[in-house]
Amino acid sequence: MINLLSDTQTRPSRGMRDAMADAEVGDEQKGADPTTIELQERVAGLLGHEAGLFLPSGSMCNLIGLRLHIRPGGDEAIVAANSHVAGFEAGAPAAINGAILRPLDTPSGIFQPAELEAVLSTPGDRYAPRSRVVCVEQTTNMGGGRVWPLSTVQGVLEVARDSGLRAHMDGARLMNAAVTGGEPASAYAAGFDTAWLDFSKGLGAPVGAVLVASEEVIQEAWRFKQMLGGAMRQSGVLAAACLYALDNNVERLADDHARARRLADGLAGIPGVAIDPSTVDTNIVFFEIDGAADFCRRAAGKDVHVGAMGPSRVRAVLHLDVGDADIDRALEVLSELA
Ligand SMILES: *Cc1c(COP(=O)(O)O)cnc(C)c1O
Repeated sequence: MINLLSDTQTRPSRGMRDAMADAEVGDEQKGADPTTIELQERVAGLLGHEAGLFLPSGSMCNLIGLRLHIRPGGDEAIVAANSHVAGFEAGAPAAINGAILRPLDTPSGIFQPAELEAVLSTPGDRYAPRSRVVCVEQTTNMGGGRVWPLSTVQGVLEVARDSGLRAHMDGARLMNAAVTGGEPASAYAAGFDTAWLDFSKGLGAPVGAVLVASEEVIQEAWRFKQMLGGAMRQSGVLAAACLYALDNNVERLADDHARARRLADGLAGIPGVAIDPSTVDTNIVFFEIDGAADFCRRAAGKDVHVGAMGPSRVRAVLHLDVGDADIDRALEVLSELA
């Protein structure tokens, strides 16, 4: 079976499981789990922030990250319309944080500084919601795994700074950007008030994400972690998988990117399939084909799993359980079905 549904589908490797089994542990919520502390410090250093907080999921990083900025009752978060925050967190920004989302329409998931500036409310305006925080998704998931160029990130941060706006980075796939974008993770994460990294995507761990910020903000984040039931006990078993991922699964993301490009190039040659391979920056490949749901169902029948993301939109995601031969086989099957 060739599973291209998502990079969340990876299974922990033998080496990762061994690292988990050997982890030194303690009571995490008492600050006594050495492996979790090591992970938090390591990720804070990697992203160039003061402190980190281990959380069960990326969704909780977005939830707590926004909560740290939003004052419930009329505060607004500016997000890409196709972002995870807007579309895949069951309405948590509104339901739990009391945030209003201002979605910016952008197929790539990337918006320009001027587009942000254009929707901000005037400070002191009695009528408009208060623009409070801007969210950047690096890389963009539903936008096709695009990497926000550093200059665009910096432009957005400049508008935020000039407008008294906070900035939050959803870095679920930040390391994919860092491996391919020519800048270290710390450069992409610089200037954000809160940022985070997911370990359960292409990095191959079963669970976990780390939110980073200043020491003071992370202390406040602890309150919300406790409130939401995200505080853990012997979480070193999980943190060990994440440390293993940092040591073993970062550079290899480049292999996923190369395979994604090869898949895209192959798809471009199939009649009935529409794709521009030059838009494939990382490990996510979107293509257009009529009757996407039926196409995906028939592909699954031949053990090639790709996801329908609309009436004529299909997503294939590369990850560490997919090899070169799998790409050849997937192209063979998809070509035959198309
Ligand atoms: C997967 C994902 C999340 C949520 O992470 P989980 O660990 O699955 O909760 C948030 N943002 C983006 C861009 C994602 O792809």
